[in-house]
Amino acid sequence: MSTPLDEQPAAGRPARAIPDAGDVRPVDVLSVSAVRDVTPAVRRVTLTAPAEAVAAAGPTISLLVPRIGDAAPAWPQIARDGRIVWPQGSHGVSLRSYTARRQDPAAGELDVDFVLHGDGPAASWAAAAAPGALLGVASGAPLGDAPAGRLLLAGDETALPAISRILASAAPTTRGVALLEVAGPEEEQPLSAPEGVELRWLHRAGTGPGLSTLLADAVAALPRPDGEDLFAWVAAESAAVRAVRADLRGRWGLRRGQHHAIGYWRRGRAMAPAG
Ligand SMILES: Cc1cc2nc3c(=O)[nH]c(=O)nc-3n(C[C@H](O)[C@H](O)[C@H](O)COP(=O)(O)OP(=O)(O)OC[C@H]3O[C@@H](n4cnc5c(N)ncnc54)[C@H](O)[C@@H]3O)c2cc1C
Repeated sequence: MSTPLDEQPAAGRPARAIPDAGDVRPVDVLSVSAVRDVTPAVRRVTLTAPAEAVAAAGPTISLLVPRIGDAAPAWPQIARDGRIVWPQGSHGVSLRSYTARRQDPAAGELDVDFVLHGDGPAASWAAAAAPGALLGVASGAPLGDAPAGRLLLAGDETALPAISRILASAAPTTRGVALLEVAGPEEEQPLSAPEGVELRWLHRAGTGPGLSTLLADAVAALPRPDGEDLFAWVAAESAAVRAVRADLRGRWGLRRGQHHAIGYWRRGRAMAPAG
């Protein structure tokens, strides 16, 4: 999988050759069927599509977000090697990474939980989303987790959809802890987890998103579990993830295959240039 924060080519990078029409396929276009607020800051958008499109769109999704109200977006196409081929000129479609909180190909449905952080094409689109609105899907990818006897999960609101899926698919005998940073008690969500995994909610309590050291402090206070049957999965604001990753690689001595720690967003910086 490409590095999520670097997915869309930066402005100024040399343009690559445009493939022939025969070498590209259209993106999957999903339609909003329902919208509901899970918490004050998280909006769940249910999308419908044929079973194959739902199955292919996740768990991590490269979403193509059109301008609000654009009923006929100029979607990019997908080259044979998976590269996104953008239309020439201004098109208003933005590429953003999200997680399918629920994928049900049989029902032709997919849920995406958007954090309404107040800025950016994706959060703004979600804030305005209504049945009938369209979203494109460029590709799906794995979450980067791996089964282990002991799990450490750490993330903020943007990581809750992924963490909920990791917990739901963990073996019932799994032990460990999930550190979940949210604004406050109103942002906690019910999560199913194996009995041996402690869910620890960490409240920012007035500190802005991306400004707290809650995750890094909580990890720093955890003794390294014995043995090597360990996996750590971490996703949040980039600086927070960097601090946690350094601790896990240093003090815990986790090897490459024992952790996945990735910045899901960057404070003060759009994730990718809008088209
Ligand atoms: C693999 C992966 C999976 C992800 N899954 C989800 C998911 O399921 N749900 C989800 O909500 N997000 C998820 N994210 C994070 C999401 O992609 C980013 O938050 C993204 O920046 C949102 O795009 P935007 O267009 O709304 O804002 P952008 O245009 O990217 O950014 C605009 C401004 O908003 C700020 N900003 C961005 N995100 C946040 C935030 N969460 N809180 C406060 N300020 C923010 C930026 O710093 C910037 O200043 C995921 C990211 C990755 C890499």
